[in-house]
Amino acid sequence: MLTTTESPAPARRQKTQAVLEVLSKTRISPRLLRLTLGGEGYAALNRNEHADAYVKLLIADPASGLQPPYDMDALREQSPELMPARRTYTVRRWDDENQRLELDVVLHGDGEDSGVAARWADEAQPGELIAMSGAGGGYTPLPETRRHLIIGDHAAVPAIAAALEVMDPGAVGTVLIQLDSEEDRLTLEHPAGVELSWLIGERELLVDAVAALELSDHEGLQVFCHVERGITKRLRRVLVKEYGIPREQISISAYWALGRIEDQFQAEKREPVGRIDD
Ligand SMILES: Cc1cc2nc3c(=O)[nH]c(=O)nc-3n(C[C@H](O)[C@H](O)[C@H](O)COP(=O)(O)OP(=O)(O)OC[C@H]3O[C@@H](n4cnc5c(N)ncnc54)[C@H](O)[C@@H]3O)c2cc1C
Repeated sequence: MLTTTESPAPARRQKTQAVLEVLSKTRISPRLLRLTLGGEGYAALNRNEHADAYVKLLIADPASGLQPPYDMDALREQSPELMPARRTYTVRRWDDENQRLELDVVLHGDGEDSGVAARWADEAQPGELIAMSGAGGGYTPLPETRRHLIIGDHAAVPAIAAALEVMDPGAVGTVLIQLDSEEDRLTLEHPAGVELSWLIGERELLVDAVAALELSDHEGLQVFCHVERGITKRLRRVLVKEYGIPREQISISAYWALGRIEDQFQAEKREPVGRIDD
């Protein structure tokens, strides 16, 4: 019989880290900052073709003096307090030819209410290095879709913008985007048959707007729904329970959770509070 000493826990496999350089920064709206990152490290990224492809940034406390790439296993074991924060961002645009990618970062909150990643992006300087892994992702607007329904808040704007750009020109559908402030509205390229509405104000506006749609015929419907966790749960109820849309036609998950830093939000996915599907 095997004892615990005879079967050590399998070593955690370190994710490949790509180290990219900050090339430039552009404020595309008051609270949305575009970072262009690139360099030789680009080739180490596991590129995928999904419209919502995302990377996980590793952000170390500047006071730690750590430089990427990071030996995450050694840090976890020897100095867990120095572990870089892991934060998820959509790749707004890939540029294979020039080995660059763009991330659009929401500058949410102020001072203490802000986050590690939002602050890092705001303060990052060209030439700075940043480690990341990825890309993950799973949603692409399908050409055979009869009707698209896309629902998101500010954090999902990069994924929505990327999805609209790759949609079939003849695509039909509805896009609902909630923003806190009118000033952050962008001009997004989209097929003529796709109606785009910006809802300015509270996040709950999304729930009312979705509940008011006519969705009794869901044949050929493809849904993308990624917002704050509490709102995502309410939207899931409306889409699946009230409209009866088959779950496999819906890409749904929370992109963040009110009052939670991402580490806690990700860890809670394994607990009842973090589950979107009940
Ligand atoms: C697949 C995926 C793709 C994503 N793509 C993008 C993207 O392209 N651009 C983008 O900006 N975000 C994106 N996000 C969301 C982003 O990962 C979170 O907002 C993340 O928490 C930001 O990290 P932070 O360090 O700035 O804040 P944290 O340290 O994680 O959080 C600090 C505080 O800020 C609050 N907070 C976090 N995010 C927001 C927000 N957006 N608005 C208001 N309050 C917030 C938290 O509730 C917490 O109280 C994506 C998330 C996922 C899962």
